[in-house]
Amino acid sequence: MKRSSLASACLLAIMSLSTASFAANVTVLDGAQLFDGSGKPVIDNSRVVIQDGIIKAAGAAADVTIPAGAIVTQYKGKTIIPGLISDHTHLGQYDATISGSPFNEATIARQLLQYEGFGVTTVVSMGVNGPEFYPIREKLRSHSMKGADIFGADKGIGVPLGAPPAKVGADQLDRPATPDEARAAVRAAAARGTDLIKLWLDDFQGAHLVKMEPAIYTAAIDEAHKQGLRVVAHIYYLQDAKDLIKAGADVLGHGVRDTLIDDEFVSLMRTHGTWYIPTLGVDEASFRFAEQPELLKDPSVRKALNPKLLAQFEDPKWRETQLANPGLKLWHQGLENNLRNTKRLVDENLAVGFGTDSGAMPLSIPGYAEHRELELLVHAGMTPAQALTLATGKAADMMKLTDRGRIEAGKRADLVVVDGDPTKNIEALDHIVEVRSSGEKASLTFTPY
Ligand SMILES: [Zn+2]
Repeated sequence: MKRSSLASACLLAIMSLSTASFAANVTVLDGAQLFDGSGKPVIDNSRVVIQDGIIKAAGAAADVTIPAGAIVTQYKGKTIIPGLISDHTHLGQYDATISGSPFNEATIARQLLQYEGFGVTTVVSMGVNGPEFYPIREKLRSHSMKGADIFGADKGIGVPLGAPPAKVGADQLDRPATPDEARAAVRAAAARGTDLIKLWLDDFQGAHLVKMEPAIYTAAIDEAHKQGLRVVAHIYYLQDAKDLIKAGADVLGHGVRDTLIDDEFVSLMRTHGTWYIPTLGVDEASFRFAEQPELLKDPSVRKALNPKLLAQFEDPKWRETQLANPGLKLWHQGLENNLRNTKRLVDENLAVGFGTDSGAMPLSIPGYAEHRELELLVHAGMTPAQALTLATGKAADMMKLTDRGRIEAGKRADLVVVDGDPTKNIEALDHIVEVRSSGEKASLTFTPY
């Protein structure tokens, strides 16, 4: 046999071997209660079949056949839910362990493993992303890097001397001064391969920053749509939210917090098909640990907090400063308005997604913040199952992700196994026993971000 044909014979043998082991690589999760993320009632005794990272079948155990050669594991007493999707996060914004820029692969890798350990298998980084975002996204897609999968809104469109107040490098944020500069920034982000365009319309309350001019956001939105991209807008005030919907913004990245929403707003959202990401926890995070220091003893907080941050939050001086912050009253009022507004929009059956702004500031802790957001949705008056539907199926719909967010044949096998029933008691999410991303078991332990 010639060398070349020997080589191809060997290659053929390897190929047939790997095909054979692939075919046998079938995992069955049997006997759990199944919450599929669609909002349909749970299935008590379910069967989920996974092959090559994809859900092959899912449903009542009586209706799903176990393929020959499959590895079957019993999950009686457990609940399977889709991997959580957080539509509003920020990657690499701080790192207590280094002095340089936190927007780097090592820091972001830790953050993504932490999300995954909390059952959050997909996150959307809503702006201030450095150029490293794209190679990281690529590595996650090709499974050469572990952790939650990512989507993002590139750098984002801010305002010179205005919002956002973040002090980040020029390669992490555009601050266009003219409509033409705004269009150029959007085109550059599109060329880099962004998933969305982000802009900020806010004066950040106490900071009273210069707000974006309508001519700038109108140009950015128009250019984004020309590029086939949707626009997510940071908002705080009801009037800004209405103006942006009228200007064509596709997603409001935060809830309205200055006041209660009115009929005009509800009707605008319905007419324009606008998405709304409440981020209930974003205001609460600013005061929660200062007002309730006993929470810092909670094991699920401790496992999520970098020891340096934990020490800071446990320091009575830090607490005193936080509680003396003039923003305290506004944060409380913001949360109250946000809870009521969110409940109304869900009751109106409008397009509500799920996100937290986790990672934007140290107090909004990746993974933990998503669990808290679910609790707050329940606190707002939703059932735990409704809250979980927002964080799975609806969150995927907001991102137009048709390959995940629900447990059904053909979707990515991103799922979370919980001891107990989170559809009855949302706090059962503290008892995650297994997380799978594209079928692979994720590590439940991580180095806190
Ligand atoms: Zn944000």
